[in-house]
Amino acid sequence: MTNLAITKKLTKIGKEEVKFLIEQIHKLASDREYCIMEFCGTHTHEISRYGIRSILPKTLDLKSGPGCPVCVTAAEDIDYLITIAEKYDLGVITFGDIVNVPGSRGSLSYLRARGKEVRVVYSPIESLKIAKQNPTRNYILVGIGFETTVPGLAYTVKKIVQEGIKNLFYFSLHKLTPPAMKALLDAGEIKLDGIIGPGHVSTVIGIKKWQEFIGNYQIPFVIMGFEPEDIIYGIYILMQKIKNKEYGVFNTYFRSVRFEGNVFAQKVVDEVFEVSDSNWRGLGVIPQSGLELRKEYSHLDVKKIFKLDEPIKVKKTGCRCGEVLRGVIKPYECPLFEKVCRPDNPKGPCMVSSEGTCAAYYLYEKE
Ligand code: SF4
Repeated sequence: MTNLAITKKLTKIGKEEVKFLIEQIHKLASDREYCIMEFCGTHTHEISRYGIRSILPKTLDLKSGPGCPVCVTAAEDIDYLITIAEKYDLGVITFGDIVNVPGSRGSLSYLRARGKEVRVVYSPIESLKIAKQNPTRNYILVGIGFETTVPGLAYTVKKIVQEGIKNLFYFSLHKLTPPAMKALLDAGEIKLDGIIGPGHVSTVIGIKKWQEFIGNYQIPFVIMGFEPEDIIYGIYILMQKIKNKEYGVFNTYFRSVRFEGNVFAQKVVDEVFEVSDSNWRGLGVIPQSGLELRKEYSHLDVKKIFKLDEPIKVKKTGCRCGEVLRGVIKPYECPLFEKVCRPDNPKGPCMVSSEGTCAAYYLYEKE
């Protein structure tokens, strides 16, 4: 079977093609050890859930990167949120996963256990209704997520202003993925042969955003979809590119990713947010890797309104999420993994989040 035949059949790739691709990956990785990284937490989970690691050659190491927005939220930011919610008696509105993420002063679920109002919503637009129904209380909407989630939150921010809501404020924890990928490559802590590019993020930002910097590195970056067949096919293409020393950005998620990305979504985000430095758990402050509200919306910005008496000082814990997020260790190399830290008793965000690497290994790859 030729590459062309596989490419043509990609929309409906069957058992035979998958078998062929796996055989080819084994052949391509037979001469030495290779190391590739999937950036995205959804890829991490799908790779673990479908047992893809187990059918790949032992010479091909798949590392997981910092592609889970909940996991990379800095402990300082969780501590700040808890501190201002208590100090100013603010209600917190957020998505589910972040509620159990520990800072060094506990998590939002501890805050709730202490009688504070912490509401979990499925859509950020629900926050408008909560604020309107409780006009005498002030609320913080926690804006968390990579480029995929930001458009919906940008729309919500616009609605807060349009509807004249005065008791709902915004805490931007948004992070941008290309600067983090660049920071990982620049750090040189791990030697990568290739990168599995995130499909959802790339659908929004387009191929061009990755091209702006990947060309400076001698590495292939292959954007992939999330079905097991997509991942197998993508890894096959990635291995080919590595072997042929073809560097740059390649797309195998044809049905979703375009060169320009989703221009409409980009425009909404750009109207509301501007790029800023951001603090990533495990990676520290990465220049130009976050989003903050533009001047026109700064009256909603929690950090500009609710000041602290003293700066947040984070206490160290035994959690090694930072190293997991940088691909330096595998979850089972953390001494707390499984023995103390489990999804029902998480000690770090990578075990809390549905996209966290430690949770993926615990649920699917323990043995
Ligand atoms: S196993 Fe738990 S404590 Fe260890 S790195 Fe993962 S989340 Fe942190």
